[in-house]
Amino acid sequence: MQTPGSTVLGYPRIGPRRELKRAVERYWSGASSAEELQSVAADLRRDTWAELAGSGLDSVPSNTFSFYDQVLDVARVVGAVPERFTALGLTPLDEMFAMARGHEGVPALELTKFFDTNYHYLVPELGPGSRFALADRKPLDEFAEALAQGVLTRPTIIGPATFLLLAKPAPGAPAGFVPLDLLEPLLDVYGQVLAELAAAGAEWVQLDEPAFVADRSPAEIDALGRAYRRLGELADRPRILVASYFGDLGPALPVLAGTSVEALALDLVAGRADSAAAAPALRDKTVLAGVVEGRNVWRTDLDAALATAATLLGTAGRVEIATSCSLLHVPYDLDAEPALAPDLRERLAFARQKVREVVLLSRALRQGRDAVAGEFAETGGVAAPAQRDERVRARLDALGAGHYRRGSAERRVAAQRAHLGLPPLPTTTIGSFPQTGAIRADRAAHRAGRLDDAEYVERMRAEIARVVRLQEDIGLDVLVHGEPERNDMVQYFAEHLAGFATTDLGWVQSYGSRCVRPPILHGDVSRPEPITVGWSTYAQSLTAKPVKAMLTGPVTILAWSFVRTDQPLGETARQVGLALRDEVRDLEAAGLRIIQVDEPALRELLPLRAADRPAYVDWAVDAFRLVTGGVADSTQVHTHLCYSEFAEVVGAIDGLDADVTTVEAARSKMEVLAQIGPGVPRGLGPGVYDVHSPQVPDVAEIEALLHTAQHWVGPERLWVNPDCGLKTRGEEETVAALRNLVSAATAARRS
Ligand code: GLN
Ligand code: ZN
Repeated sequence: MQTPGSTVLGYPRIGPRRELKRAVERYWSGASSAEELQSVAADLRRDTWAELAGSGLDSVPSNTFSFYDQVLDVARVVGAVPERFTALGLTPLDEMFAMARGHEGVPALELTKFFDTNYHYLVPELGPGSRFALADRKPLDEFAEALAQGVLTRPTIIGPATFLLLAKPAPGAPAGFVPLDLLEPLLDVYGQVLAELAAAGAEWVQLDEPAFVADRSPAEIDALGRAYRRLGELADRPRILVASYFGDLGPALPVLAGTSVEALALDLVAGRADSAAAAPALRDKTVLAGVVEGRNVWRTDLDAALATAATLLGTAGRVEIATSCSLLHVPYDLDAEPALAPDLRERLAFARQKVREVVLLSRALRQGRDAVAGEFAETGGVAAPAQRDERVRARLDALGAGHYRRGSAERRVAAQRAHLGLPPLPTTTIGSFPQTGAIRADRAAHRAGRLDDAEYVERMRAEIARVVRLQEDIGLDVLVHGEPERNDMVQYFAEHLAGFATTDLGWVQSYGSRCVRPPILHGDVSRPEPITVGWSTYAQSLTAKPVKAMLTGPVTILAWSFVRTDQPLGETARQVGLALRDEVRDLEAAGLRIIQVDEPALRELLPLRAADRPAYVDWAVDAFRLVTGGVADSTQVHTHLCYSEFAEVVGAIDGLDADVTTVEAARSKMEVLAQIGPGVPRGLGPGVYDVHSPQVPDVAEIEALLHTAQHWVGPERLWVNPDCGLKTRGEEETVAALRNLVSAATAARRS
């Protein structure tokens, strides 16, 4: 076959009912055997291949399955397994899980976000001493497994250049070493994989190189060219499809076009069709036009998609239809959501429906639009417009610059000092307290109608009262209500705002066995009635100390939802901002003196290309300031950011103009302060307790961190708090850690 044909770049793998999550967690807990786990996995692979092969796609991907993460899988295939794991002497399956989750004190690989998605991958560790060898045959085994089932697949593997760019130097690697230095030896192993795939009968292989839709140095782009010239020249290999996604290849496109790979996949949703159309070297290549969006749940506008694909017809040797990226990032099946409103349903497409769109578009491209006119009208009829709320639009139009601005920082500091009366180095937490099984059960029972409203409120209030008493007993200065009523910091708000829908089974893998159900932001957003005010007011009524009210910010709500695409993101963010502004106003009127607006996803949405960032920062900052810009000088605004890579967002954080910013810092031993400390004036709370670890930090340890922090943040600006919310921690360890935190702050105040 000269062309891979129409296809999807990848598919969900957790199972339509999260079968893989359950099987993996059963195995981890010791409740099932490796054989049982393997058999669930094999069933899922078999069902996926059968479904895709039966759907009319020309080419079915394989190796889209993973027990945990596809980047980790490549590290194992090429033998990039740090010694601390091989030394454990585990089975291959357990060694893989040890790399993902740690094992008896041996720390896991670092987990971080995959480009600008909410999927997390494990960061390979490479040093000058790393030796590659074909150490795990997963892509080969799965190819053979599918073939035995009668499906000739196209194995998909993260490409060598992206793999190296996603890796980090191993601890102890000499300064100046970069993983990309290892390209040549890595290509030896990729060459071997390709040769073996060819011998096994593979006609096509897909190598993913999404790293090149971000800004890359000339040396990095050069390495990409070297890699594919070398792989292209191999005598025994399948045809190569290089897949790019999440943006535009920019200067990397002509470089790839100049190699002898047979096909390129381009993301024509996030990237630009015109830049591909302008690349003359594509004449002898097949281009997979990624016109069916893989990262969102909206139905494709089939005519527009067809037109976009058609712009390449004069440029590329051959054009085929594909998804813009893997469908890993969307739920399986819209048909599993009968409860969604019909006028919303008809605007949606999940993975299964998107496969049908690809097939249909491919037929339209080959046989002409007329041949599929009927199906186009049925599946792709222009989707119903988003529900509009003229009141929201009029209110937004009427806003002026003053709505986004608070009083001067000096005036705020003075007013808040008088209003709050806090000691120096005030202590606080980030919001949530440990969520016990009983709380979760109460929420589930209430949702299912087994617990009536009155009884539910009673139980949540009892928990809030318990958490307030506990915080007073520990001696914290700024208290929280503990967030027992929240299932998830975004879903909770989505359930209470107009313009959102939530799903029952719309699960998407976030990392490992963890899945999320992103809400669907489908129409104009508003707040029908107060959301958090009752809970926060109740907490404040129990104590003389200030209680900090807790909201999720507009950027994070957008980042963790499927967002309408019929208007600019900034416009949607302002609508969410306005709804939250109403909540803030009501909280302030109800007597809450401190309000925290969490924006942990501020960095996640940062565009991959630097040129696109200023526009993003503008709307992100505007939306946040719309939430908080209406409060009195004496009301203290906090924000919380939970990641530790600040270099690119210091300006944005400063722009938020929060009175206090809390950040994750304990794990990096306060290193982040070098980036953020001097750049962000006002209050700063670098976390001194790593909430991702069950270890209780002792007083001396916290004091040492505070000592380091004071080097960057003067005592009049420093806050003392954990890294993040405590909801995943156990009760006992949390109480012990917070007691130590308060003792350390008390000691630091004296010195
Ligand atoms: N307020 C939230 C909590 O404490 C913040 C969570 C987060 O930053 N991801 O749970
Ligand atoms: Zn956090």
